[in-house]
Amino acid sequence: MTQNHGPAMNNPTTYRARRMALAYPAFAAIASLFALPLGGCADHASDVKAKAADDSSPSAPVRATSTIATYPLKEAWFGEQHVHTAYSLDAYIGGARLTPSDAYRFAKGEEVEVGGTKVRMAPLDWAAVTDHAEYIGEMYSTLNEGVKGSDNPQIKELRALKELDERENWFLTYVVKPNRGTPAHPPFFAGYETTASGWKQILDATQAHYQPGKFTTIPAFEWSSAPKGGNLHRNVFFRDMNVPERPMGAAEFDQPEALWAWLAGLEKQGMKVIAIPHNSNASKGTMFPAANAQGKPLDRSYAEMRNRFEPLIEMMQIKGNSEVHRKFWAADEFSGFENADSIGDYSDRNFDKYGKHNWVRWGVTKGLAYEKSLGVNPFHYGFVGGTDSHNGTPSNVAEDNFATGSHGAADGTVERRRNEEVGGWIKGKDLNPGALTAVWAPQNTREAIWDGLKSRETFATSGPRVKVRFFGQMGASKPPKDSRELVEGGYRNGVPMGGTLKTGGGAPTFNVWAMKEANGANIDRIQIIKGWVDARGEPQDKVIDVAWSGNRKRDAKGKVAAVGNTVDLKTATYQNTIGASELMGSWTDPHFDARQGAVYYVRVLLIPTPRWSTYDAVRAGLPLLANVDATVQERAWTSPIWYKP
Ligand SMILES: [Zn+2]
Ligand SMILES: [Zn+2]
Repeated sequence: MTQNHGPAMNNPTTYRARRMALAYPAFAAIASLFALPLGGCADHASDVKAKAADDSSPSAPVRATSTIATYPLKEAWFGEQHVHTAYSLDAYIGGARLTPSDAYRFAKGEEVEVGGTKVRMAPLDWAAVTDHAEYIGEMYSTLNEGVKGSDNPQIKELRALKELDERENWFLTYVVKPNRGTPAHPPFFAGYETTASGWKQILDATQAHYQPGKFTTIPAFEWSSAPKGGNLHRNVFFRDMNVPERPMGAAEFDQPEALWAWLAGLEKQGMKVIAIPHNSNASKGTMFPAANAQGKPLDRSYAEMRNRFEPLIEMMQIKGNSEVHRKFWAADEFSGFENADSIGDYSDRNFDKYGKHNWVRWGVTKGLAYEKSLGVNPFHYGFVGGTDSHNGTPSNVAEDNFATGSHGAADGTVERRRNEEVGGWIKGKDLNPGALTAVWAPQNTREAIWDGLKSRETFATSGPRVKVRFFGQMGASKPPKDSRELVEGGYRNGVPMGGTLKTGGGAPTFNVWAMKEANGANIDRIQIIKGWVDARGEPQDKVIDVAWSGNRKRDAKGKVAAVGNTVDLKTATYQNTIGASELMGSWTDPHFDARQGAVYYVRVLLIPTPRWSTYDAVRAGLPLLANVDATVQERAWTSPIWYKP
């Protein structure tokens, strides 16, 4: 391989590489083990022919036609697509005063203030602010004095309230009570022109912060419908600034079918748009339904619309991990991660009533049954992660940096997180700082990131910026010798995460590689989860360890022993004396049946590290919380690869 020379780091064409190298000098050395992505304008291409100090995406240097760095074999761009600001009424009630512009500043690494505390984090590559469409007009009137509706007495009252409980009472009186039954705008709504004006302010911030090649913003909003308390929320994302005059909320329509019909209308007008559902864990079994809004069994047109507009689902966020729940996947020893049990205590969302049907692994597997019976998979989902922060701080996901919580005053102190709840949703102790999304894309531009989302070449992480590559191809093949060969061969001979394999050539082989974040925790193991449906159409799944650190051997049941735990609970610290900084594995499915559809996704587990509640306790000199995990194994989930007979 080649040397890692200095001038490349100063080259203006490789902003990301430079940033990584400056932030983590040691990282450059690790990175030089891999072939590297390069890009940039023609003027500088020769300067950087040796190597940029970035890591995992092998590719040959290219001559790009613009100054935007291009990575032919793609780069993992870290960001997230789920954050609320003062333009969301519930966030404002909680105390959020950051604007969409502030949220983007925070995402770029700038310092912001939440509830009087200064916060900042390592910059992201991209972000999308998703304020609740339901009250964007009302918030426009609240946040902008002198505009239509701003002198409404109820809005003036809201602006003057100082305490959380006062604002919550106001919310109950003027929003919740008049709004029981069919969703509707509250009495202080001043009309759809205010919704359009608020939306325009959000879009202006979205456009102002977009720096193609450096930082991407995506125009977006949240549609927050929850018929009978079953969460059906979707975030909606546009590929460019060709967007509707105003967003739609649950008051306009409250069933996903109506949302997709509206999106289809926007497509006819030339807009490019996708929707991403979240919190299936709170859906009361309705996120992956057997029947449509009219109570009729799912049909092909339902499956087609859902498949067309919803390529992705949110795996995890502050209100829990929706992959699996330990009660319903007892054989999966890693299923007890951030289960957010107290969600079941509110709005009659009792997990036990719905069993496996609330969970993403069940949903993506059940989709295979519909693919077989209807010819289209309605739950053809890749994975993203988000925070759903209601503080205006996207991706503030570090366990040791959760001091401001995620819902304003409701969870903004150690005391509240330990003993209180986020009203109507979850107990503070069951929150977590949220998740991230990485998109494999050749450029950090709005088009490339959106296209990566649409094609499902994404993975979610519970916070750490670990990188994962996952490729599948039909037939047995020699394991790749390094990550370059894995990626080049992966694109040449098969499909990446998010793709579909077609029959022919024997059982599929999957190659996977993961690398930890610089200065982050080591990796315990890489697993592949296979899902299929049995003869009755019922989802089945199996978890397979494909690579792990150290000299551990499989036991008689095929399980690999736990990696160990170095966490010192008295100091909330851990040691990287166990685990590996990088793992690579290859697996050919020994139970492959060419006539049976299957879905395969990767789960990467890191070594145990302190949970946020442990950092809280140590900092505050308080005992650890009872019945709460003191350590967690952070993780990443890749979008699946499907096999279609
Ligand atoms: Zn939501
Ligand atoms: Zn949300």
